[in-house]
Amino acid sequence: SVSLDLRKPRGQDIARQVRLNNHPTVNAYVRSMGQRLVAQSPAPFNQLPWEFHVVDDPSINAFAVPGGHVYVHTGLIANADNASELAGVLAHEINHVVARHSTEQISRQYGLSVLAGIALGQDPNALAQLAAQIVAGGALARFSREAEEESDELGIRAMAAAGYNPNGMATMFEELLEHRQGSPGSVAQFFSTHPLTEDRLRRARGA
Ligand code: ZN
Repeated sequence: SVSLDLRKPRGQDIARQVRLNNHPTVNAYVRSMGQRLVAQSPAPFNQLPWEFHVVDDPSINAFAVPGGHVYVHTGLIANADNASELAGVLAHEINHVVARHSTEQISRQYGLSVLAGIALGQDPNALAQLAAQIVAGGALARFSREAEEESDELGIRAMAAAGYNPNGMATMFEELLEHRQGSPGSVAQFFSTHPLTEDRLRRARGA
């Protein structure tokens, strides 16, 4: 596992709602990995002011919202066996934004005004509320199978271009499936939004 010393978050607005982890080493690690991956995305996405947030939560989950905010739980970081596995999940989430799946997902569920506020950076409160809801209860709509496959494919390409072992995505999926067998609650939220089929796993393995 990626072994990291995790501390309690500071009392910022969003942190109070989603319990962000503010450990400098953890955050710097996730941020630099995320930046390496987004640098491989097409314009204008490689120019977005992406932000990578670490959420203090032992469940294995990650999600992204339009505008370039990616959230990763400490539980996911702790359960990744190596850097490429963590990169696999980050690359997948980043590419839900790049392929505009996240935009469709949020507008379908929360309406265009919430989405516009987030995308234009006008309503940091809406973003905080949204992140809190997602962390609290898996409040996001399920992505389609097609969206999942597209995010995998784009993510695997970005991983390879950024110098990560693209096989990390498939082995992370295998980890997630093992957790679904052993402690389904720990991955329930991830699987409720990201359906994982045998077909998808086979494609990721073939990368
Ligand atoms: Zn997904």
